[in-house]
Amino acid sequence: MEDCIFCKIINKEIPCYKIYEDENVLAFLDIAKKDYGHTLVIPKKHYKNCVDCDEKTLSMVISVVKKIGKHYVEDCGFNSFVVLNANGEEAGQTVFHLHFHIVPKNSELNLSADTPLEEQQARLRF
Ligand code: 5GP
Ligand code: ZN
Repeated sequence: MEDCIFCKIINKEIPCYKIYEDENVLAFLDIAKKDYGHTLVIPKKHYKNCVDCDEKTLSMVISVVKKIGKHYVEDCGFNSFVVLNANGEEAGQTVFHLHFHIVPKNSELNLSADTPLEEQQARLRF
C-alpha cells in the first residue's frame, strides 16, 4: 500500500534490521530503541489491524510471534518476552499496517536499549 512505512520496508524501499522472513511474514527490529531487542512482526500483505486481517494470515503471523519468542528464550539468553498489539489510534497504534511487538526480557543480561541495532540483530536473528 502506498504511503505505508511497513509496506516500504517489505518492498525494500526502506532498510530494516531483519530478524526473520518467510513467504508471508517479516520480522525486524523496531527503530525506536526504547527496549533492547524490540521486534516487530508483520504480514507481507497490507492489513490495517487484526480485525481487517483474514484468520489464515493472522494465524501465520502469530505462529512467527511464537517462533521468535521461543528463539529468544531458548537460543538468545532471555527468560521471557512481552507481546503487544494495538488496534486503532486510541489503543496506541501509530502505524496502520498490522504488527505485533515482541520485547524479550532478562534484566541480568544488562543489555542497553542504546546498543546499535546491527549488534542487536547479530544476537537475535535466525
Ligand atoms: P504502534 O505504535 O503502531 O503499535 O507501533 C509502531 C512501531 O513502529 C513503533 O514502535 C515505531 O517505533 C516503529 N516504527 C515506525 N517507523 C519505523 C521504521 O521506519 N522502521 C522501523 N524499524 N520501525 C518503525
Ligand atoms: Zn502496509
